[in-house]
Amino acid sequence: MAPPAQPCAKLRLKPNVHCLVGGAAGRVEGDMIRTSTGKMKDVMIRGMAAGGQVRAFAAYTRGVAEKARASHDLSPVVCAALGRLLTAGALMGWMLKGRGDILTLKVEGDGPVGALTVTADALGRVKGYANHPQAMLPASPAGKLDVGGIVGAGTLSVICDLGLKEPYVGQTALVNGEIAEDLAYYYAASEQTPSCVALGVLMNKNNTVRHAGGFILQLMPEAGEDVVALLEKNVNALPPVTHLLCEGLDVKGILERALEGLDLQITEEGPVRFACSCSRRRVEKALLGISRSDLEELAAEGKPLEVCCHFCGKKYMVDAGELLVPMAGL
Ligand SMILES: [Zn+2]
Repeated sequence: MAPPAQPCAKLRLKPNVHCLVGGAAGRVEGDMIRTSTGKMKDVMIRGMAAGGQVRAFAAYTRGVAEKARASHDLSPVVCAALGRLLTAGALMGWMLKGRGDILTLKVEGDGPVGALTVTADALGRVKGYANHPQAMLPASPAGKLDVGGIVGAGTLSVICDLGLKEPYVGQTALVNGEIAEDLAYYYAASEQTPSCVALGVLMNKNNTVRHAGGFILQLMPEAGEDVVALLEKNVNALPPVTHLLCEGLDVKGILERALEGLDLQITEEGPVRFACSCSRRRVEKALLGISRSDLEELAAEGKPLEVCCHFCGKKYMVDAGELLVPMAGL
């Protein structure tokens, strides 16, 4: 499963698509994309270009990444890694058709962070966690957070639970652990869809999230050579997403830059937020899997059980004795 040198079969892109160069561009104001104070809010948009030959998705996810950082006390480099994966997960979840469909992305590398797990639904709700939230590596000489280093070599798994008997599982090798290229390679190798994936998280000096976002562009099978050539030219000349956000571009502005000359049509806008479905009821239900004798032992000790939700870090204190009450009736 060794990744090829060129992650995308049809699109000849620079290897690190999310690290590109560029100048300023006009700011495009969306009605819903900015709050009244002018600050960008978390949002996802989707559209088409070149008469349907290109599908485009973009997200602004500062709030999502900051919620993940605060919930899990993430180190800056883990926040960058998980923030990128959360952004991709939110966009890929939004691509699912059914309201109950669930998408899970798992990045399992041999780097210090261990595994990253993100789950998203089709309604813009996304959550995720890192196995080692406080893992750290020195920044690169250019001051960049070493996401590839913290992730290491390993695999990317995409699990789509569409409510069928078995979920769909696709797995590819990580190209460089930087998440964006790994996903572009997954799309090319596993789904035969040439794609351009750009993801970025920029931290403030106080280690909170300043900007986070990204986009996914996909070539449809009928895409003509001229469209492919123009898309390549645009994307190869594009600065990193975080630079574009710092320039003041919003998600629409970023897609317009990436798809310049390709007649972008935005078709939908949707919310995106970090949301977890855990509850005391779910936790208690899960604990009912513990044997009665173990619960009795715990109840006898009189100490409450502390159960922490992996995804959002919320802590639940459960009294083992209370769990035995409904069991008594069984
Ligand atoms: Zn939770």
